Amino acid sequence: MIRTVHLSKVYGKGARALDDVSLQINRGEFVFVMGKSGAGKSTLFWVLSGQVRPTSGSVFVNDKSIARATSGVIARLRRQMGLVPQDLKLLERRTAYENVAFAMQVIERPECEIKERVREVLAMVGLAGREDAYPNQLSGGEQQRVAIARAIVNGPQIILADEPTGNLDSKTAEDILKILERLNRKGTTVLVATHNESLVESRNHRVVYLERGRVRIDTGGRPLWGDLQ
Ligand code: ADP
Repeated sequence: MIRTVHLSKVYGKGARALDDVSLQINRGEFVFVMGKSGAGKSTLFWVLSGQVRPTSGSVFVNDKSIARATSGVIARLRRQMGLVPQDLKLLERRTAYENVAFAMQVIERPECEIKERVREVLAMVGLAGREDAYPNQLSGGEQQRVAIARAIVNGPQIILADEPTGNLDSKTAEDILKILERLNRKGTTVLVATHNESLVESRNHRVVYLERGRVRIDTGGRPLWGDLQ
């Protein structure tokens, strides 16, 4: 479960990226975090994953407070989360297989387990047969799949996917969302940041709409009906 209470983030003397955000996301939910560019979606994900410290307010993940937690606590918490960053952060000199395997190597899983699990996860995201390709040999949609495979390989309870369909055509975007929905049906909590209204309006998921760092709409478990004007 994720809970934020009066959460705010101000960068330096600049913009209020998050402004008094109080949210509860239950285990097993699928939530779209919507909003225009600059609305605070990435900042929310960075704060939830302990990468950015909030200016004020509280953040709890599975009842553990992370706003002012030590780096050890945050590292343990991060193992329960799979992050798909907006810029993917794939290692260009490593193959699809090696990019995903790396996430298991850093937590020192045995090689035989890594071999089996990475192949399984790459197949799960539709990349069987593409294990040996380097990121620059993969399409945008395939690169996104590698990033998702890397996020889920250690079996996280929560997935935070930041604009996972950002630069993709609508058919590929649908395919990526279906992968995330499949993971959600197996019990993973999924948060997807997006500015793509048509993608959101065609699906039955809760929507949290951010505007200039504030929650403008929270459909609270229901899909978004009607337009946003
Ligand atoms: P979104 O993901 O919805 O596009 P962001 O969280 O990236 O929104 O940005 C929210 C606001 O915070 C914007 O005004 C942006 O310019 C600002 N911002 C984001 N990251 C930084 C940063 N590292 N330093 C300063 N300002 C930032």
